[in-house]
Amino acid sequence: MNKVIPYGRQNISSDDIEAVIEVLHSDYLTQGPLVPKFEQKVAQYCQASMAVAVNSATSALHIACLALGVKAEDNVWTSPISFVASANCALYCGANIDFVDIDVNTGNMSITALAKKLAIAKLNNCLPKVVIPVHLAGQSCDMQAIAELAKQYDFAIIEDASHAIGAKYQNLPVGNCLYSDICVFSFHPVKIVTSAEGGMALTNQPKLAKHLRQYRSHGIVTEPSLFTEPSHGPWYYQQQTLGFNYRMTELQAALGISQLNRLDDFVAKRNELAKTYDQAFSKTVLDSLYQNIETYSSYHLYVIQLPYNCANIHKKIFTSLREKGIFSQVHYIPIHMQPYYQQLGFSFGDFPNAEQYYLNSISIPLYPDLTSQEQQYVIDTLLALLEN
Ligand SMILES: *Cc1c(COP(=O)(O)O)cnc(C)c1O
Repeated sequence: MNKVIPYGRQNISSDDIEAVIEVLHSDYLTQGPLVPKFEQKVAQYCQASMAVAVNSATSALHIACLALGVKAEDNVWTSPISFVASANCALYCGANIDFVDIDVNTGNMSITALAKKLAIAKLNNCLPKVVIPVHLAGQSCDMQAIAELAKQYDFAIIEDASHAIGAKYQNLPVGNCLYSDICVFSFHPVKIVTSAEGGMALTNQPKLAKHLRQYRSHGIVTEPSLFTEPSHGPWYYQQQTLGFNYRMTELQAALGISQLNRLDDFVAKRNELAKTYDQAFSKTVLDSLYQNIETYSSYHLYVIQLPYNCANIHKKIFTSLREKGIFSQVHYIPIHMQPYYQQLGFSFGDFPNAEQYYLNSISIPLYPDLTSQEQQYVIDTLLALLEN
C-alpha cells in the first residue's frame, strides 16, 4: 500500500460543498441566519437548552471560564491527558491551573484521585472554582460522580467534550449539561463533525448563555432590554465588558449544519470500526481503552495500549508504523510535561498514571472513510510488528 493512512480525517460530501457555496452567493458571510440555526440544531440534538457557537473549542473553553467568573487567584483543575487547550483556558483568565491524575484504564480523570485531591484542597483552603473533565477519545467521564463532588465542594464543571459529540452517557446525549454547567465541542477537521475551525458551548443556564454571547463578540450587547442606560437611537449598542471576536462565520455554520445530518452515521461507523479492532486485538497483548457500561463512545480515537512501559518500544512501533504508511498519533503528551508548564512549576513524576499512559498509548487510524482493506492492513502491520 503506498497511500498514507492518517489517524483521523474529515468526510466531506457534495451536500457539504453545496451548502458552503450557497453561503458564498448569499448576503451574509458572517452574522447571518445560519450560526443561530447551527446552535439550535446542536442544542436540540444534545437536549440542552442553549448553545453558543464560536470559532474554536479553545475559544469556547476560554469564554466558558470567563462566564463562570474565573479570574486571577482562582484554581482550575483538568486532566493532564488532554490537548493543551483544556488547561490554557484557565491561564488566559489569570487563574492557577492544576491537574487531576487519570484512570489508566479509560484515560479519563480518575474519580478517586479527584476526591482525594479535593479533600486535601479543602484542608488547605485552595478548592478549585472550576473542574474541566475531558471525555478522552469520545468516552464520557463519570459525570454523575463528578457532579456529586461538585455539590459537596462547591465547584463548577465545564465538560471538554471536544471528542464526544454524538456520544452518550447513561443513555442520554453528551452535551445535555445534566451534570455540568457548560459543555464544549470542537469542530476541527479531525473531530467527529467539522466546520473547518469551530466550537460550541452548551448550557442550560440562561445567565451563562448571556455571558458566553457577550464574551464571544467584544463584550457588546445589542438587545435594548439589556442596556444599562437609555439608548441613544436605533444605531445604539453597549460594550459592557471586555470581550473578544470569537465569532463563527456563516460558511462554517453551513458546513457544520450539513455535517450534523451524518453525525449518527459517523459515530455508528466509528463504533463498527472500533469493534473490528477490538476483535482483532482480543487475543493479543494489546489493550484498548476500557469502556464503561454507562457510556457509548463517539470513538474520536482508537487508542491501543502496549503492554510495555518503555519509551524505546513505544517509539519503535510508532516509527515502524510510519515507515509503512500508517500515520498514527499519540494522544497526548501529558500537559504538565510541556516546557511551558514545567516553567510554571510542574515536573515529571507529578502525575504518574498520566505519564505511564503516555508511554504505552498510540492512536491508530479511525475515521468514517477508513476502508476495511485499509483497516486490515493496519491490523496486520501492527500484529507483525508486535511479533518482532
Ligand atoms: C481539539 C481539542 C481542543 C481544541 O479544539 P479547537 O477547536 O481546535 O480549538 C480542546 N480540547 C480537546 C480535548 C481537543 O481534542
